[in-house]
Amino acid sequence: MKIKFIINSGISEDAKNQVIHAVNDNFIEHDYSIEFTGYHRHAEVIAKSSAMQFYDVVVAVGGDGTVNEIINGIAGTESALAVLPVGTANDFAEFYSLPHNIHEACRVIKDGKVHCPDLISVNGKFYATAGGIGFPSKVVRFANKLKSSGAVGQFIRELFGSRLYTVSVLFSLMRKNAFSNSINLIKNGLPLRISAFSLIIDNQPFLGGNLLMSPGAVNDDGTFNICLIDEMNSRTEVIRLLLKIIKGQHVALSNVMTWSANELEVESDNEQDFFGDGDLLCHSKKFRMKVVQRALKVMVPNNYHNRNINDVSS
Ligand SMILES: [Mg+2]
Repeated sequence: MKIKFIINSGISEDAKNQVIHAVNDNFIEHDYSIEFTGYHRHAEVIAKSSAMQFYDVVVAVGGDGTVNEIINGIAGTESALAVLPVGTANDFAEFYSLPHNIHEACRVIKDGKVHCPDLISVNGKFYATAGGIGFPSKVVRFANKLKSSGAVGQFIRELFGSRLYTVSVLFSLMRKNAFSNSINLIKNGLPLRISAFSLIIDNQPFLGGNLLMSPGAVNDDGTFNICLIDEMNSRTEVIRLLLKIIKGQHVALSNVMTWSANELEVESDNEQDFFGDGDLLCHSKKFRMKVVQRALKVMVPNNYHNRNINDVSS
């Protein structure tokens, strides 16, 4: 088996050393190589060239951002994605219950099985977990700014770990005009104009570790789950909403709409950031999303059970 490990240079020195030791211990009989990222989206470039060199597996050593870069390099190729989840946000790894222990995660690469999830494409960029526009994009922008500010960023990342996004939510709440954007879209064939707090297009149930945005969403049923939330009028209202989302109870609220589709076009009055897998994927007024069925190969634990209850073969 030919394996490429792509290590996000932003992870701690401790994590890097642990990973290098674990890889040398576990893959001595395999043809493997290790590369470190040198700049934002570099993992995408390395992954693309690895797929062209017929690597069987390309391993993301990092979090959802690193996973996203690699997905954009290998989608539709024969190379499979594997993950050693050592990043700030690990929603992709959590969905597949990938082990946090690095040695156990290495075992999944050696002895696991392949699952083929759908990907969501937005203006030609892929993502695998959750994405959208509105308030969450502002949170992602803020978190990425914190993470990328050199030594300070490193300190903040180590201090807060996966809570970095919770901190970013609180900071984003402090800003004015964070709570509404006018957008146009087509819902079930009918045009809809709405002033929205957020529009999320999900491929799995949760994002940010503990926000159960789309309960029941599965990543291999050929559709994505949409959650559209009306404008919010105060910070208190936003905090109440977030508490509901943690339990997935927001779906019953009158100012929340949920539905599923395999395509969606959205036009906004102003240019906006679209986030996906915890990174900012594009900046535009117009977004075109579609499901690309079974576009990725992922190494998952042997006991991973396909969560699609409609799939009787699993
Ligand atoms: Mg789905």
